[in-house]
Amino acid sequence: MPAVSPPRWIVGLTGGIGSGKSAASDRFGLCGAAIVDTDLIARELTAAGGAALPAIRASFGDELIATDGALDRAAMRARAFADPAERQRLEAILHPMIRAESDHQCAAAEAPYVVLVVPLLIESGSYRQRCQRIAVVDCDEAVQVARVMSRSGLARDQVEAIMAAQLPRADRLAAADDVIDNSGNLEQLYRQVDALHMRYLALASA
Ligand code: ADP
Repeated sequence: MPAVSPPRWIVGLTGGIGSGKSAASDRFGLCGAAIVDTDLIARELTAAGGAALPAIRASFGDELIATDGALDRAAMRARAFADPAERQRLEAILHPMIRAESDHQCAAAEAPYVVLVVPLLIESGSYRQRCQRIAVVDCDEAVQVARVMSRSGLARDQVEAIMAAQLPRADRLAAADDVIDNSGNLEQLYRQVDALHMRYLALASA
């Protein structure tokens, strides 16, 4: 049997925190797209036994390693908040590893096309370059805040601080080839994803 050639067609999926990227990408996955999720990769790299742990330990010592051996996210957040240089130091370790693993997963995917989920896709030239198309999941900021608060238990001002550090909604929308409006219910989200899936199948095989 001939080897399956890696898909060359990649849709970058992005959106602000709580906009519904995971809900949309789960649906794309159900339709048959390959999902490469950079958040998930980051979590795996920093879980107990994860490939990034030795470098994190070497750079930061044991202070940021929780008792279960994973990266202590709360400790890291506190440190990054106090000193942005610390955040940059962690990102210098993690970002190349996330990039390499996502490249590998995109090349290894056996599906008609890949959905590459990147929260900061528009801000990142190199991820953007890898995508044939950009889809943005969008909803009102008030809805975003409410969803994140109920998902994570973060306080309103914490969510708003995260959103303030992200690209403004209008800039994200301006960069979109496709906008997925997630201000309605999940059924409405799924209908849009299903329609885009048909379009992406056609584009990917053109
Ligand atoms: P993101 O991945 O962009 O941060 P999620 O997909 O995790 O966002 O969605 C944030 C939260 O809102 C999750 O708890 C999710 O289940 C919920 N959610 C997403 N879309 C909808 C929707 N259309 N209706 C109701 N809840 C939703």
